[in-house]
Amino acid sequence: MKKYLKEINGETWLVEDERDNMKLYYRIKEVISSKESTFQKVDIIDSYDFGRCLVLDGVMQTTELDGYIYNEMISHIPVVTHKKPEKVLVIGGGDCGVVNELIKYKELKAIDMVEIDRLVVEESIKYIPSIAGDASKDERVNFVFDDGVNFVKNKYKYYDIAIVDSSDPVGPGEVLFSEDFYVSLRDCLKDDGMMVCQSQSPIFYKDVLKKTRGILKNHFPVVKTYKATVPSYPGGMWSFTLASLKYDPKDGDIQKLAKDTKYINNEIFKSCFSLPNFTKKDLELL
Ligand code: SAM
Repeated sequence: MKKYLKEINGETWLVEDERDNMKLYYRIKEVISSKESTFQKVDIIDSYDFGRCLVLDGVMQTTELDGYIYNEMISHIPVVTHKKPEKVLVIGGGDCGVVNELIKYKELKAIDMVEIDRLVVEESIKYIPSIAGDASKDERVNFVFDDGVNFVKNKYKYYDIAIVDSSDPVGPGEVLFSEDFYVSLRDCLKDDGMMVCQSQSPIFYKDVLKKTRGILKNHFPVVKTYKATVPSYPGGMWSFTLASLKYDPKDGDIQKLAKDTKYINNEIFKSCFSLPNFTKKDLELL
C-alpha cells in the first residue's frame, strides 16, 4: 500500500503530510483506484465525509463535498470580469471541474485545457463524474496533454482568459509558480486578456501568495487577490489571484454570472475581494 494510505485499527485512512507539525487524516470507505503515471501517483478514494476524492502524490486535490467552491471561484470570476471572452486556456485542471464550470457560458467559443497527465483526466472522468461532468463531451473543449510551460511558449496574443488550475508548488506543478511561466502566460493573452491562478493559503503559505502577487504586479497593471473557504485545503481559507491587462473585476457585469452555481452569487462576487487585515498587512495593502 502507498505510504500515505494507512491501516489504523482495521480502518483505512488517507494521511496528508501537510507539514512537520500537522497531518490531515481522512477515513476512507474504499480505495477505488490506485495508479501511478510518469508524473505522479494518482488515487481515487471514497471517503466517509468528503465523498469521492482525487489524490495526487498523497495530496488531496478535489472532493465531492467542496470541490465546487474552488472550481466556481477560479472560473466564474474571470469570465464575468472580461467584457467579451471567447477563447479560454486552462493549465492543469485534470479533474475537469474547471472546464465543467466554463461550459456554462455560451459566449465562450473555445476552451483549451492543457494538462500534463492524461491519467488524471481519465480517472476523474471515469470515477468522479459528479465533478468532471459533461465537459469532455462539449465540442468547445479541447484537451491537450502537454506541459503547460511548453504550451504557452508557442502561443502569442491568442487567449482572452488563462486559468492556472495547478497542484501545489512541488512536483510537476512547481514550474507553474515561476516568473518565466507567468511572463509567457501574459504573452499568450490578447491586449485585454487576464489570467487567474490559485495562490495558496493566505495563512499557511503567505510566502507563496506574496511572491506570486509580486511577480504578477511586475507584468500586469491590475492585480487582485480574492478568497474563498475550501474545507479540504489546509487552513480552509484559500486565495486566488487575478492579473489583468485591462479589465478590473470591480467593473465586471455581474448580471451575466451563471445562475446554476452552488457557491458563487452576486454578493460573493463583490465580497470575495475584501481581505482580512492580516492578509492586507502581509500584502502591504494597509
Ligand atoms: N483544484 C485542485 C487543487 O488546487 O489542488 C486540483 C487542481 S488539478 C487536479 C491540478 C493539475 O495540474 C493536476 O492534474 C496536474 O497533473 C496538473 N499539472 C501539474 N503540473 C502541470 C504542468 N506543468 N502542466 C500542466 N498541468 C500540470
